[in-house]
Amino acid sequence: MTDTVDRQTRSKMMSAVRAKNTKLEIEIRRRLFAQGFRYRLHARDLPGTPDMVLPKYATIIFVHGCFWHYHGCHLSSIPGTRRSWWKKKLEDNVKRDSEAVSELQNLGWRVLIIWECGFRKPKTNRAEALDIIAVRAAGFLKSKRRLLEIPRLSRSRKRLEPGKGRSYDEKNK
Ligand SMILES: [Zn+2]
Repeated sequence: MTDTVDRQTRSKMMSAVRAKNTKLEIEIRRRLFAQGFRYRLHARDLPGTPDMVLPKYATIIFVHGCFWHYHGCHLSSIPGTRRSWWKKKLEDNVKRDSEAVSELQNLGWRVLIIWECGFRKPKTNRAEALDIIAVRAAGFLKSKRRLLEIPRLSRSRKRLEPGKGRSYDEKNK
């Protein structure tokens, strides 16, 4: 495979993942809006360009795609080709995300992170899963908690190593 083909393939994969994440974000947004929450979108003036900002609740919401943000769940694995390039890229994303969260917290924001795997589970109705997440998000918004991840992976869980878990190609069939 030449580098050009590789690049084209990669860029196609990237745009597919991005489009999907946007859709997920809209589904979360719709549900929060229906519950009466109002927000500002894609705040470029804040660390990490948060997907949603709710000043009234001093809360930032990120809707994270598990692949891009390298969650460590069943949806996040390193692609089969150019592994070291991907590994570095994804680990940089993780580092940037965690820096953004710290900066936001230092600025007084509460942070809610909604992960894609929370509603992309086998044998789970997607709409129902999203409804449940929206209820949990509302609970967080009305609370005084500083940080919540939905779902939260156990601390001891290791991020998937190359070659483990599903490969990127399988995932996108
Ligand atoms: Zn995940």
